[in-house]
Amino acid sequence: MAKKGDMLYAWTNDAEIKKHAELGGAVSALWKYALESKTVDAILAIQKGKDLYDAQPVLIKNAADIKNTAGSLHCGTLLMAKLVKKYLDGAQDSRIGVTVKGCDAMGFYELAKREQINLDNVIMIGVNCGGSVSPVLARKMIADKYGVDPDKVHKEEIDKGQFIIEYEGGHKGISVDELEEHGYGRRSNCRRCKLKIPRQADLACGNWGVTKDKAGKVTFVEVCSDKGADLLTKAVAAKKIAVEPADPKGIEIRAKTEASMFRLADKWRMRDFSELSPHLWRTIEKETARCTKCYACIDKCPVCFPVADKLKGTTMVRPGTLPVDQMFHLRRFAHISDSCVNCGQCEECCPMEIPLALFSHAIRTEEDSFFEPKLGKASYTN
Ligand code: FAD
Ligand code: SF4
Ligand code: SF4
Repeated sequence: MAKKGDMLYAWTNDAEIKKHAELGGAVSALWKYALESKTVDAILAIQKGKDLYDAQPVLIKNAADIKNTAGSLHCGTLLMAKLVKKYLDGAQDSRIGVTVKGCDAMGFYELAKREQINLDNVIMIGVNCGGSVSPVLARKMIADKYGVDPDKVHKEEIDKGQFIIEYEGGHKGISVDELEEHGYGRRSNCRRCKLKIPRQADLACGNWGVTKDKAGKVTFVEVCSDKGADLLTKAVAAKKIAVEPADPKGIEIRAKTEASMFRLADKWRMRDFSELSPHLWRTIEKETARCTKCYACIDKCPVCFPVADKLKGTTMVRPGTLPVDQMFHLRRFAHISDSCVNCGQCEECCPMEIPLALFSHAIRTEEDSFFEPKLGKASYTN
């Protein structure tokens, strides 16, 4: 019987899932069981669309379709929480299982705090997240740095610090550090992120801590809640998934890997934030001057939604005026500054390429260091 705090290796007993899974297929096997056992009404997961740069959210109700969602799409930069609010009535009357990255999980909590999502009806299986790559930049990176036609690439993975592609005629890996030094690699918010093992979810699944002989064959699972423990226990009893205790050496390696990811995130924070300081507000004023008030950032933000309609009608933000009144941005930053989850959606969707996530994250980090001075600017844990 699994319990909160357990660290396990897990793998699927389903041949079809095994074929498509990133590692041991634990995530997909658990979702398949959750549908078959009617623990949930539907699963919200990510599926490859036209190509591997096209990560699409899918709602699965038929257990046989779960295999199509197996595998990791590192160019999948979507945020799941707002989709549940917007299209699934915040899970008020249906039970939803959802695969989440750390930022997705935080989005769920922020929306639940605002009574927009009913967390009692949501089960979250988290995937560790070293970072995701913007699909547009990924295509450019593959053409420029790898010298490969992005349309010829049929698989990508991040392994041992390298972004590796497989394409017609070969495969090639380049270290993520090197890519990032040249302005490619992970999104800038991901570089600063510290939600690497999503313990805010019910289960946290990943590769870190899987020792050599098991590499690629099992999923490392940390049980983070009673809900997660219950799902896992029942799926094991139904023989849909097999588990064994994780190797203590693997647990140690995983903790060291997480700590080194935190140090790397601190390094990026220092770099990004010190470039802004001490002219943050002047930089914001200058950069946001090109805003076209398309509302994409507000639409995608998991925190910002309630203000959208209010902003449109106020005298402080005149409708139909460009350049935008500064108050449009000041109000938005003020509104989200204590809740920004650094998911990067605003920056990802801004057609004017304004570094909005950087600004929000800098403000949030500054605010946190004010309330928790011991943490200091670099140590904010989100
Ligand atoms: P599978 O059974 O293959 O299921 C994978 C699940 O992930 C499916 O539900 C699928 O819909 C979902 N999914 C795929 N892409 C995304 C996405 N972009 N956003 C949200 N959900 C998605 N593990 C580590 O230990 N270290 C890492 O650095 C690391 N980085 C990752 C970065 C990204 C962007 C992603 C998506 C995953 C990362 N993982 C990392 C987790 C790892 O790749 C596996 O997803 C995890 O171990 C589960 O393996 P599995 O075989 O059990 O999953
Ligand atoms: Fe992963 Fe963090 Fe980036 Fe979200 S913000 S995709 S959790 S690295
Ligand atoms: Fe302005 Fe960019 Fe937000 Fe659109 S997404 S409203 S252009 S800041």
